[in-house]
Amino acid sequence: MTELTELLDAVDSLTKPGVLHHTIQDSRFTCVVFDTPLLDRLENEIRFSLSREGSKSLPNQRVPINSGALQLFMRISSQITDWAHGAKATVYKGDPGRTLRAWYVAWTQTEREPQNVTARVRLLAGWEASIRREIEPPRQKDLPDPCPTCGAVEWWRDGERYPRPLVVESPRNPDRSLIDESTAHCRACDKRWGARELAYELEQMPNHTDGSTP
Ligand SMILES: [Zn+2]
Repeated sequence: MTELTELLDAVDSLTKPGVLHHTIQDSRFTCVVFDTPLLDRLENEIRFSLSREGSKSLPNQRVPINSGALQLFMRISSQITDWAHGAKATVYKGDPGRTLRAWYVAWTQTEREPQNVTARVRLLAGWEASIRREIEPPRQKDLPDPCPTCGAVEWWRDGERYPRPLVVESPRNPDRSLIDESTAHCRACDKRWGARELAYELEQMPNHTDGSTP
């Protein structure tokens, strides 16, 4: 039954390490590098932002806590726990990946309607996409310039002040040409530009120096 294969693939993509590189060096070596499973990477993302938050770093060096990742992780974990209870599978506390695999084994013991299986596959694929959005955000680069629209030189988040409100975001996908795909954003007034458009506006600003003028 192909739906079940798809379901197992969807479970694997969340809970199994992915292969990053598979290089054969002068035919004597095979080098395989494994990536951490996606659910673990999501959990690591939360731990990392929590530990940065708790450290005694200066406010402008602090990474704002990734509350999106935290909410996503809690939503996914509680759904997996519900599924496991429903299928009478073991719930491994603090290990949603292992619980999800246990759920798969228990749930597929009973014959399921193909559309029910497909619905689960879609949900798991949605989780995978959401996790990737959280842990592989676009490349960001802060700009030192004040915002051409609101003039801000700082921005606030969760009661903390940060410098450099302008940020350019480029997609991670290296296949695409970057400048036209890049967008810019002012974290003070929330204005958005295409990266080229912002570059043009910054050039028009009276105090603009691009490094080429002495
Ligand atoms: Zn602004």
